[in-house]
Amino acid sequence: MSAIIMDGNALSKQIKKEIKLKIEQAGIRPGLAVVIVGEDAASHVYVNHKQKDCAECGIHSERFALAADAGEEKLLALIDELNNRKDIHGILVQMPLPKGYSEQKVIEAIAPEKDVDAFTLQNVGRVMVGDYTFAPCTPYGVMKLLEHYGIDPAGKHCVVVGRSNIVGKPQAMLMLHKHATVTICHSRTPNLTEITRQADILVAAVGKINLITADMVKAGAVVIDVAINRHTDGKLYGDVDFDAVKEVASHITPVPGGVGPMTRAVLMQNTLNAAGVN
Ligand code: NDP
Repeated sequence: MSAIIMDGNALSKQIKKEIKLKIEQAGIRPGLAVVIVGEDAASHVYVNHKQKDCAECGIHSERFALAADAGEEKLLALIDELNNRKDIHGILVQMPLPKGYSEQKVIEAIAPEKDVDAFTLQNVGRVMVGDYTFAPCTPYGVMKLLEHYGIDPAGKHCVVVGRSNIVGKPQAMLMLHKHATVTICHSRTPNLTEITRQADILVAAVGKINLITADMVKAGAVVIDVAINRHTDGKLYGDVDFDAVKEVASHITPVPGGVGPMTRAVLMQNTLNAAGVN
């Protein structure tokens, strides 16, 4: 039997509607500052999407575009100014930054209570200990999808393939907090198939088309495909061989339309939380 397709588009729309309603009921105006440095076309598209989401939810957004050669000092001064603005509750610096900027230094300049990406060391630590206001948007979006589809990680074996600081590691932590038994795999993991086949919940966050094939998936597993890969045919694909794996899995996320829109919705949720509403 073919798997249930986990519809991130539909759920993200629902979440954004709920956020809009909460904002109206609370009579507040959350503000998100989006900072972009340089001319990277993909980054500008991402920032456009985030501002569109803000408009949909009734969140005030301001875009600060700096030239690639503006310099770290100017960027840090802007972040300092935004840290001190009462009408700005969330600050997001679009990554990657151009050469010559220290991403970690820039991230650390953001006030932790406005760090809606949850990338500052303080927020990373808070996610680690399980006492957090913001969790990184992509892994948190995955948790919301699971919850919506009635999938409780407690007692299940969750295998996360990928160990980046923004996806793999925080994903593993969020699963652990929900009482899953967690295994993290990466490029040096031998016998990947042996491990992925043990997964009740398999999260692929690598960036390699068709890395996860049907023989790597246990029958009835929940398969979450975080990756976004642009193929030479111009289309987007995840890490998972979707057509074959959907015949083995119980649930599966499509690419596009699965985790991607959830990431965007959770950014709105984090901004709402930063403004003091849950
Ligand atoms: P990174 O490149 O930072 O991390 C990739 C991870 O995959 C690394 O830990 C790497 O291991 C591991 N890896 C590489 N090759 C293999 C392999 N053959 N077998 C097992 N593990 C392997 O990527 P990100 O975490 O930033 O992103 C992962 C994917 O998710 C990308 O496609 C990205 O575009 C997408 N993404 C999607 C988002 C969304 O909103 N849906 C948001 C963010 C990212 P090692 O550490 O050993 O190098």
